[in-house]
Amino acid sequence: MNYEKLFFESLEHSLKGRYITLNEVEPLLSRFDFENQVQIIGKSVLGKPIYQYIIGKGPIKILFWSQMHGNESTTTKALFDFINLLNSNSEIAKSLLIEFTFCFLPILNPDGAALYTRENANKIDLNRDAQNLSQPESKLLRNTFDNFGPHYCYNLHDQRTIYGVASEVIKPATVSFLAPAYNENRDVNEVRTKAMKIIIAMNNVLQKLIPNQVGRFDDSFNINCVGDTFQFLNVPTVLIEAGHYQDDYEREITRKFVFIAIVSGLINFYENDIVSNEIGNYLNIPHNKICFYDFIYKNVKINYDNSKIITNFAIQFKEELIDNQLLFIAYTVAVGDLKGFSGHLELDVEEALYQNSEINFPILNQKAEFSIGNSIKFVDGLIIN
Ligand SMILES: [Zn+2]
Repeated sequence: MNYEKLFFESLEHSLKGRYITLNEVEPLLSRFDFENQVQIIGKSVLGKPIYQYIIGKGPIKILFWSQMHGNESTTTKALFDFINLLNSNSEIAKSLLIEFTFCFLPILNPDGAALYTRENANKIDLNRDAQNLSQPESKLLRNTFDNFGPHYCYNLHDQRTIYGVASEVIKPATVSFLAPAYNENRDVNEVRTKAMKIIIAMNNVLQKLIPNQVGRFDDSFNINCVGDTFQFLNVPTVLIEAGHYQDDYEREITRKFVFIAIVSGLINFYENDIVSNEIGNYLNIPHNKICFYDFIYKNVKINYDNSKIITNFAIQFKEELIDNQLLFIAYTVAVGDLKGFSGHLELDVEEALYQNSEINFPILNQKAEFSIGNSIKFVDGLIIN
């Protein structure tokens, strides 16, 4: 299977970048609504529609939802790439539609998507609301789960650039997985094993394309999380986290790997024989680890209080919605030896001088506003050169 080729044939060109809202997604949904397959199942806190799209006639029912965290849009892009594949009339599309019935809830949290926030408009994290069901979006997800009766669930997220994979060479965690626990003991039962097997199939393919850039999330049990609840209710649930790929802050490359994970996991259902030692293969996926900053400047000279020090400091982007545009604003977040951390961009400035207009010392959690030597300059959190 040439997954890369399949991706480029399926790519939904109209969805780009990190700021993905209903405005971009609604025209696509209306394009696929030829047999009443698209329905509005309810409204968000601010009255925005929440859509469900069902396609396929197969016996295995899979429920996918994306952007329950509004600012986590990469998997929405990958879902529409996948939906394009399903509508391509290709052999693989036909096979998938015979094997499966898919139910998609793209952008479960449309208010958060518009505001570019993790939480919904009531500032509730929907992924901590699986028991309380206090929010309309949480209730709609749970109703869909109850009515559709999936055999499997795919819980789709983005993770921050701080995550790397804990292997010998530290690489960014471009895609991370979790088969959530269903109890405090983190036991492995038949249900959870099914989720692990899908992840193993996805990981086998991804490792060939992005070796050592696939991580496994911590499986601490929290029944308030949707994945843990659905696993507890005996439906195997796979959590996918789209993460950072080198220089890909727009996550246009990462979306490809999420697409490939989805497709390879499904093909595995009907093409591959079950291999032995599946659980071991799942546990062999290295852990996710917080070990990255976006930038690290090393050996920076700082003149402060009449003394000179040589130190390192780290910059992290925050995505901020300004005039309806998403900007990556740089903040100074750490100063010191930064042991155990790498920078997605790391520069040894060889004792070049740090300067800013007020105090010549980096202040934590402030917008980057400084220069180092002649070549590096930030103004109001934006890189000038
Ligand atoms: Zn999330």
